[in-house]
Amino acid sequence: MTRLAVALVAHDDKKDDMAAWALRHAAVLAGFDLWATGTTGARVAAATGLPVTQLKSGPLGGDAQLGAMIAEGRLDALFFFTDPLSAMPHDVDVKSLLRLAVLYDIPTAMSPRTADLVLAGLQGPNA
Ligand code: PGA
Repeated sequence: MTRLAVALVAHDDKKDDMAAWALRHAAVLAGFDLWATGTTGARVAAATGLPVTQLKSGPLGGDAQLGAMIAEGRLDALFFFTDPLSAMPHDVDVKSLLRLAVLYDIPTAMSPRTADLVLAGLQGPNA
């Protein structure tokens, strides 16, 4: 069976949440090819010990790289913990990534509890 490619991204104030979420689900995440923006990927790898392909940091193009992966059909799910209380210098990149995720109907979760549900769905019989 092909391994799913899963992306993890978290804004700065949400990186603790992402590290904790990834650690909680490390056994399941171990079955996926994990991709992440730079800083998030380093945090997740340190927290879980899992291999994570680290792209550029989000503000330096990492979100755009993930968007390109979606457009190329190379990403199966997106876990993107956004910070609803801070303005981002790369807001346009964030919008682009989320727009492409919707356009290509990529399962996307933007908070831990939704992420629990999407992750459970990825393990389902029709994933
Ligand atoms: P980072 O990027 O993981 O490199 O911090 C995330 C983002 O801000 O989009």
